[in-house]
Amino acid sequence: MNHKLYHLLMFFILVYGMTLPVFPDSLNFTSKHGSLSKKEEVMKKPGLGNPIVHEIAENVYAIVDLYMPVKGIGVNAGIIFTDSSIVFIDAGMSIASAEFIWRFASKKKKEFENVYLIITHGHTDHFFGMRIFKENEADIIGHHILEKELKDEKGQYFRFIMEKFEWDLQEAKKFLGDVEVSVPNKLIYKDTILKIDGEKVHILYTPGHYPDELSVYHPSSGTLFAGDTIYEGINPNTRFGGPEEWRTWISQLERLKELDVKTIVTGHGKLCTVAEIDRNIRFLKERIKASGYERSVEKPFSQKDHSEIKDK
Ligand SMILES: [Zn+2]
Repeated sequence: MNHKLYHLLMFFILVYGMTLPVFPDSLNFTSKHGSLSKKEEVMKKPGLGNPIVHEIAENVYAIVDLYMPVKGIGVNAGIIFTDSSIVFIDAGMSIASAEFIWRFASKKKKEFENVYLIITHGHTDHFFGMRIFKENEADIIGHHILEKELKDEKGQYFRFIMEKFEWDLQEAKKFLGDVEVSVPNKLIYKDTILKIDGEKVHILYTPGHYPDELSVYHPSSGTLFAGDTIYEGINPNTRFGGPEEWRTWISQLERLKELDVKTIVTGHGKLCTVAEIDRNIRFLKERIKASGYERSVEKPFSQKDHSEIKDK
């Protein structure tokens, strides 16, 4: 079994186990600020999950609890609107999820010039919805390792998921129908600041959970979209690395703590605050201790590449 399939296998077998998906009766729009409170009844849609939209700040949104093929652990996404652009963080796992995100954003902002989709990392629950954004001419931004992983994909992720959940083609199409994977056209090599209409969107390279992991920091609203670098309410998923990677992960969490963050949107779980970073760090430290790992040489994490964002 190759490396990538092994990771995916571990992801689904060891972490989440096998349970049946659940589907919602309605879409719920909620808001911290109360300005977005309508409830929209829709038909049950396979692959949608139970998305809830949170208004974090003016023009900054989180969509939590999108579809996952396992119960109780939906995936999250984010949106930042600038004067002329829409920046999406993660695409959901299904086309239904991606359409939900896109529909919400394009209803909210009817006129825009540029669309960006930042993919936090190469796990299917975060990027399978990407076709919807690509069709809307989004620049797809990802770490250069993600580009390598998706380059010769040829449907293997889709086939793997089918196999994993013992779905026949019909069933797989029902949940993941028309998923189409493509490579990012803007590659990240190190921490990079996107400047859009005077707004700064920091794309931070935060490996640990996975080698291509990115976090997105929006300083003007104090929002951190952490992908699976931070988990809310559940233990961090450490299946893709060992003690060295977990040490790197802790060092990334320590530096994220230094940011001026009011709200964290994790890859899975509810919105949270910096206190949740401490919980993640404590867990990882315990995990390292329990592994009996002792490092012989002090090896601080360093970013090897020094290029800015690159067009493919
Ligand atoms: Zn995830």
